[in-house]
Amino acid sequence: MKALTTESAGSLAASWLRALQPPPDVPCPRCRRLEAAGFIEHFGMCERCWKGARDETARQENLAALWRNSGLPPVAGRLGFVDMDPARTDPKAIRACRDWQYRQRGLYLWGPTGAGKTRLALCLARRELMENQRRVLFICLPQLFQDLKQSFHTADPGPRRLLRAARSARLLVLDDIGVGHGRDFGESEILPMVSARLDQGLPTIYTSNLSWSQKNAVPGFETLEDRLGPRVAQRVIASSTAIWVTGQSNWIFRQMASVRKEDKR
Ligand SMILES: [Zn+2]
Repeated sequence: MKALTTESAGSLAASWLRALQPPPDVPCPRCRRLEAAGFIEHFGMCERCWKGARDETARQENLAALWRNSGLPPVAGRLGFVDMDPARTDPKAIRACRDWQYRQRGLYLWGPTGAGKTRLALCLARRELMENQRRVLFICLPQLFQDLKQSFHTADPGPRRLLRAARSARLLVLDDIGVGHGRDFGESEILPMVSARLDQGLPTIYTSNLSWSQKNAVPGFETLEDRLGPRVAQRVIASSTAIWVTGQSNWIFRQMASVRKEDKR
C-alpha cells in the first residue's frame, strides 16, 4: 500500500475544497441571465423565466376553464370588432359596442334579423373573457326554453343548472330574448334571473328583434313589453342601454330615421 505523502494529501484537500464549492453559475437558455447551475439543471431555465412560465401556464389553464364553462360557440374564439363588416352592420352600432366598458349597465342590441347583433354580443363576450378573464356565460334563450321543456320528461338537470349559473356570471349574454317564448317563460325564468343580476350589479347583454320600449317602437316591431310583459320589460330596460343595430342599406333603418325626424318636429 502506497504511503500518504505530503504531496498527495495536498491534492486530496484541494479536491475536497472543490467539491465543497458550488459549481459556477451558468446562463439561462431562455434569457441568458446567469443563474445557479443547480437551478438551471433542475428547472431548465432561470428562476425569473420559470416563474413567468408558471404564471403563463396558470393563466392559460384559467382561460381554458372559462371557455369550457362559457357556452360560447367556437366561432367566438376568433371574433373581434375588426372582423365586423361595416357594410353589413351599422358602424355606429359597432363603435358603441366597442366603446362599452364593463360596468353595471349592460346593452340591449336590437334590430332586424341578420344585422349582426349576435356577432357584436360575441365580440364583447370574447373580449371580457380573453382580455379581462371574466366569467362569461352565453345563453341562447330559444334553445334554453326548448331544453327546459324537454327536461320535464328527461329530468336532465342541465337547463336548471344553466339558469342558476346565469344569476352570478360576471357577464351574461342572453341571445334572442323573446324569440320562441312568451310571457309565461319571461315571468317564471327570465324575471328572477334578471332581477338577481340587477341586485348584484352584474351586467347583461341582450340581443333581440323586439323594440326596447313603447316610446321607440318601430312599425313592424313588437315591443318587449307586448311579448314578455311589463315586469320583465321594466327590468331589462333598467339593466341596459339600447343600441339599434342594423345594416346601413336596410329599409327599416331609413324608416326609423324618418320616424325620429317626425318625432322632433
Ligand atoms: Zn431566464
